[in-house]
Amino acid sequence: MFEIDLNEFLEAFRAAADVADRKHRLITYDSVFVGDETCRKLVENGVVADLDQALALGNALMETGAFHHVTREHPFQNSHLFYRFSDVHGSSSIQSDSTALSWADLLGKTSTQHISLQASLPELKEKSAIQGATPLSPMDAHNIALLNRVHPPAWRNPETSNRYNAVVIGAGAGGLVTAASIAGLGGRVALVEEHMMGGDCLNFGCVPSKALLRAARAVADVRRASAFGVEIQGEIRVNFGKIMARLRRLRAEISHVDSADRFAHELGVDVFIGRGEFTKPGVIQVNGQEISYAKAVIATGAQPAVPPIPGLRESPYLTNMTIFNLNELPPRLGIIGGGVIGCEMAQAFARFGSKVTLFQSDYRILPREDDEAAQWVHRALVDDGVDIRLKSTVTSVEYSKDTGFVVRTEDSAIHVDALLVATGRKANVDGMGLEHVGVEYSSKGVQVDDHLRTTNADIYAVGDVATRYQFTHVADAMARMVVKNALFFGNEKFSELLIPWCTYTEPEVAHVGLYPRDMGERGIEFQTFRQDLASNDRAILEGEAGFVTIHTRAGTDEILGATIVGPHAGDLISEISVVMKTGLGLGGLASVIHPYPTIADAIRRCGDEYNRTRLTPTVKRLLRGVLAARR
Ligand SMILES: Cc1cc2nc3c(=O)[nH]c(=O)nc-3n(C[C@H](O)[C@H](O)[C@H](O)COP(=O)(O)OP(=O)(O)OC[C@H]3O[C@@H](n4cnc5c(N)ncnc54)[C@H](O)[C@@H]3O)c2cc1C
Repeated sequence: MFEIDLNEFLEAFRAAADVADRKHRLITYDSVFVGDETCRKLVENGVVADLDQALALGNALMETGAFHHVTREHPFQNSHLFYRFSDVHGSSSIQSDSTALSWADLLGKTSTQHISLQASLPELKEKSAIQGATPLSPMDAHNIALLNRVHPPAWRNPETSNRYNAVVIGAGAGGLVTAASIAGLGGRVALVEEHMMGGDCLNFGCVPSKALLRAARAVADVRRASAFGVEIQGEIRVNFGKIMARLRRLRAEISHVDSADRFAHELGVDVFIGRGEFTKPGVIQVNGQEISYAKAVIATGAQPAVPPIPGLRESPYLTNMTIFNLNELPPRLGIIGGGVIGCEMAQAFARFGSKVTLFQSDYRILPREDDEAAQWVHRALVDDGVDIRLKSTVTSVEYSKDTGFVVRTEDSAIHVDALLVATGRKANVDGMGLEHVGVEYSSKGVQVDDHLRTTNADIYAVGDVATRYQFTHVADAMARMVVKNALFFGNEKFSELLIPWCTYTEPEVAHVGLYPRDMGERGIEFQTFRQDLASNDRAILEGEAGFVTIHTRAGTDEILGATIVGPHAGDLISEISVVMKTGLGLGGLASVIHPYPTIADAIRRCGDEYNRTRLTPTVKRLLRGVLAARR
């Protein structure tokens, strides 16, 4: 019979336990040791004969209170669980109700500590989709509230052996809408998220960026108040810390809608926190657990694409994953990329007081938009103090802690304190086992047909991972389409979606349908109707400017495309989308009464303009004849 003194065993146990800071999911636990490693070491050190003895004695020791599991009431196990010696960390940090466990409990208190968002269970693959994902910071009450909702620390994945109607990988806009719709229709659905529910839009995209832009508009409004006869005496001070705290507060408030708790308990979705990977046809694995499905939906989104500029990767550059963590305004901010994200952030930070330099390799910013629209934004950014460098390709980046960044182009070397990379987005397709299930993909994303079906008939894809129209509302529309096409008898086509979008700078630029260049390429003849907001009473009174252009098929009032530049353009474009979708036509739009004075009236006036083109000389002659007869 094996006999050992527990005190002696404690010493031997301490020698075997490798105490270190270790990461699990989003958190780093300090001074912990791992169950299975310690058991193995006890055997190797000859302290015990085998693993069973290590386990039995370990549990006996645990009974004495010598150590405890870091978060829950766990026995000592020969598995990858974390334990702490009680004399190092006080008594147990056990929570009786693990679902009520908060990140604040785990961190000890609200602090500025960083939590790494790199998922660590299972081990990240070499080319993990979100490898290099960055910390959420600071861990104040708002970010703790956010994480408690979108990545609860003690979440227990459901245990299930039944087949799901659908398993959705990724809980961003696309995945959330897919899962909620299927559950709403009575289907069994599993939603797998390795990082933060809500995805980019809630956590690192639309929501934080629009919160910043709103604050930036407040700054601009105060600065131009004198134009309205409002005199502000004294210095205008921008408190960047408060702006960022507002961002974090609002993001946390909004996060309830995307929370694991709401999806699981209100919507009836089985929420799995962990990385989803296809292992064989019909099966996805999450944290070692196998989930079988009839249909699967890939909604894994995209991540910042970082160009191979010498020196860049070695520097602490920012992307949309980190810029919303800033707590101090960089005095000088460099931005690489003059697309939507680059322009929105350039305007916001310039208004807050950063000296912003925007490097754009193209000959203009916002390359997707019409020249004139891009020019409006260009002028606005310059007015805000942004130094825009067109046809300016960054050739190298140097960084030192003392002097910050030097951003070099062919003919310049600009010194900045922070550098944002906003050079596009790449699809999250790697390390998901797509090759095990015959899903074709490339660096551009998962290959889908017009019905959003991948090369595996049982697997569909939605959102940023499957389209270059990388918008939340597109991910949403794709999700609705997939629910019909995959689970019912739908035959809807992506190519038939009418997709509007908006850049939320001031002025906003919104677009729907075709651009003149598209129509030129497709040989479509068209007419353009235009209203300048300089002749719109409301815009004049508001001190606003911009324009509306609407393109129709030549000789008809069928609207093929439209661009609006000006205040609330993103809201106003929906009126044109409705007309296009319903086939009302620009002539019909002219007969819709709009309240006076509104900027939307400029859209109606484009309709008036169209109707005037119908007054051909013959029609005019006829009308003159009728009027003469009725005098
Ligand atoms: C700064 C910025 C501002 C933006 N502003 C706007 C805007 O104003 N309006 C707009 O319409 N769009 C905007 N967008 C775009 C919008 O955020 C995206 O189009 C939208 O989030 C796409 O949703 P998605 O579901 O496809 O992907 P995501 O939101 O990226 O979600 C994908 C999810 O999948 C998870 N995941 C990935 N791989 C795995 C795996 N193997 N297992 C489990 N989970 C996995 C990820 O962690 C992520 O949470 C903005 C984007 C950025 C970056």
